[in-house]
Amino acid sequence: MNLPTHLLLLLSLLAGAERVGARPRPVPDRLVVLTFDDAALTHATYVAPLLKKYGFGATFFVCEFREPPFSDKTKYMSWAQIRDLGRQEFEVGSHTLTHRHVNKMTERELTAELDSLESRCRAQHLPRPRTFAYPGYDTAPSALPVLRHQGYRLARTGGDRPYDPAHDNPLLIPSYTTLATNRQQILDALALAKDERLVVLTIHGVPDLAHDWVTTPPALFEEYLQYLYDHHYRVVALRDIARYVPDS
Ligand SMILES: [Zn+2]
Repeated sequence: MNLPTHLLLLLSLLAGAERVGARPRPVPDRLVVLTFDDAALTHATYVAPLLKKYGFGATFFVCEFREPPFSDKTKYMSWAQIRDLGRQEFEVGSHTLTHRHVNKMTERELTAELDSLESRCRAQHLPRPRTFAYPGYDTAPSALPVLRHQGYRLARTGGDRPYDPAHDNPLLIPSYTTLATNRQQILDALALAKDERLVVLTIHGVPDLAHDWVTTPPALFEEYLQYLYDHHYRVVALRDIARYVPDS
């Protein structure tokens, strides 16, 4: 065995040791994840250009809502608009195909919903979704192995508390929902993005033209973005926090 071979062996052993003992990176303070649900039309027409202006990342959890129907393009994005979000380097994640709650489906039905949304993405030449958002925030223990088997490593629900990667299951990541009426709750939540915890926001349409009870007014949304910018928050997509999550 000559010296270069020794070196190669040593390097591969070191690389392997590093993988086995891999520790996630420490969570920086002021880390916020923005997630946008339900393929609302205003995500393409208003939200994405504004995020670009601020240089913020985000995940758009898309689906083809049944009521009002996804075919109503005065309320929802088209697939061409969703594809453009991907081209703008935003993450497109899965929200099931038809917004069915995972606690109301068999494992086989959930797999079919995931498959269908993934094939829509494939048809648009979008990367296969790797993150998931639970419709209605409903979770079920039986959904976790299905998501894991399908290749999802990060999944977001509700719960109104920060995410602690050292203790929370990465397939049950909590988030805060922005509404027209909870400005102080959101500002208080952003202050909790420290001490190894990060904050995930769930935002529907800005405004939401399909489901007005989850609307976020544009002026309030812009106030949040300006606040994040002025206070030097790091604003990313859900996929970007994988580096802070221990291997499961
Ligand atoms: Zn939803």
